Amino acid sequence: MPNVAPEKLRSSTRLAALRATGLLDAPAEQALDRLTRLAARLVGVPIALVSLVDDKRQFFASEVGVGEPWRTERGTDLSHSFCQHVVATSEALVVDDARINALVADNLAIPDLGVIAYAGIPLKDDSGEVLGSFCAIDTAPRHWTPENVGVLEDLAHAAMSEIQLRQASRLLSDRQAFLADMLDHTSELVCATDEQGFIGYANVAMLDCTGYSAEELGTMRAIDLIAEDCWPSFLDAANRVRAGEVVPGLETILLTKSGQRLICKGRGTPVRDQAGNVVGVRVIFRDLTRERQAQRLKDELIALVSHELRTPVGAIRGALKILVPHVAHFEGKPRQLFEMATRNADRLLLLVNDLLDIERLESGSAQLKRAPISAHTLLELSREATQPLADNANITLALEAPDTAVDVDSSRVQQVVVNLVENALKFSPAESTITLRAAPTTLEDGRAAMLLSVSDQGRGIPADKIDRVFERFEQVMPSDASEKGGAGLGLAISRAIVEQHGGKIWVESAPGVGSTFYFTVPLASS
Ligand code: ADP
Repeated sequence: MPNVAPEKLRSSTRLAALRATGLLDAPAEQALDRLTRLAARLVGVPIALVSLVDDKRQFFASEVGVGEPWRTERGTDLSHSFCQHVVATSEALVVDDARINALVADNLAIPDLGVIAYAGIPLKDDSGEVLGSFCAIDTAPRHWTPENVGVLEDLAHAAMSEIQLRQASRLLSDRQAFLADMLDHTSELVCATDEQGFIGYANVAMLDCTGYSAEELGTMRAIDLIAEDCWPSFLDAANRVRAGEVVPGLETILLTKSGQRLICKGRGTPVRDQAGNVVGVRVIFRDLTRERQAQRLKDELIALVSHELRTPVGAIRGALKILVPHVAHFEGKPRQLFEMATRNADRLLLLVNDLLDIERLESGSAQLKRAPISAHTLLELSREATQPLADNANITLALEAPDTAVDVDSSRVQQVVVNLVENALKFSPAESTITLRAAPTTLEDGRAAMLLSVSDQGRGIPADKIDRVFERFEQVMPSDASEKGGAGLGLAISRAIVEQHGGKIWVESAPGVGSTFYFTVPLASS
């Protein structure tokens, strides 16, 4: 016997497929035992095996007629295995008298297990891996008829189906256990209703948040959990799901048992029966109440602080300005201190003004003065405003834009473009190019619009930060504020301005390659 198993036996994909059956060293399977008993009876042999062969041994997933100690050990080393040859060749092995067969004449199964006649059929899985052999064994020489081999082939097929079925059902129950565990421990609120809208399932988070027991929810319809002011939109979404649509971004208010209102956002998905008919609705919600409350408090606090700071900071800045001619003779430390005070007062005033600006824009109290202006002129004016900064940084500002008229508040949109170009300048290397572009585009709803963009060849923005840069005070690197200046408000202001024009703003970026900020503005009606 060779000491090292043939390559086929050691193949890692084959060994993995073998382990995945979950049969190695597992208790005997009744279904397989039935098949080996049937083989012994139909073919008329004392021994039949479902033998799984790894790279060191054969394991009897099922056996009849094997003597001790192999019956208890449920297998042998490869030194005692005919089945290994079935695996190595992926072919049936039919031996009438092993003692005179060159392949197996010296196999220890002959003296130790009394194997004389052997007929083994490969146990092949769907991907073609041979996991072992389904075999019949006689302890005396015999001639295997074609019918004998045919019966064994059928039974080998049945054994393989059994093995795969068992594997699939184990996978399924593993997955179910995993899902059940996730559903019980997630903070998302999950429930499912039947056709009439009655709640058939609610996860732990749903029960905890609403304060109802599973029994109570079982007698309620989903609509009973929804605040009355949200009924129209909820019913509309529910009808769409019942018609087979997946409805994402569903925002609604859930009423808890104690009457508290929970702001929830989530998605509704149709539940279908085997024929594909919608038989219910599954909803996954996230409770945003706390998040929204915290955001509102933050907004209110910021608004309050900026209003309160506006006057005193303006006064300090004004006083410092008046002092300029009187401190002309300052030198050394006093001069440095005066300049630092002026710089900081400027920064603070800018910050306070930005904050007030956002607040006005977001609350809609900043009125836009819209008028038709050529997209080219708009970008040209923005380029002129940023040209000195670009010259300083030795960066080229390129412009490609048609003369098509857009309907915008020109100074507000210039504010956006200038902000985007200033950002691009901050994060671009010398000798690179920043391109200001305008091109006609079509919005999702089919209307024509103008797409403005600012592309740079700079640092780029990592994928995980890309959605956040438009939020207030968001900076990609904590050092951006101190090293590059700015408080992380520029893009938040830009978004507010673009949205007030009914447009959208977004960014595409590849770290190390560059970023392009895009936004849309309406065309002037011609
Ligand atoms: P700030 O006013 O501080 O510049 P912004 O809101 O304009 O703040 O930008 C937020 C952050 O987004 C910046 O601090 C920077 O980290 C990142 N960012 C913005 N534009 C670019 C760009 N063109 N390239 C790389 N990062 C950028």
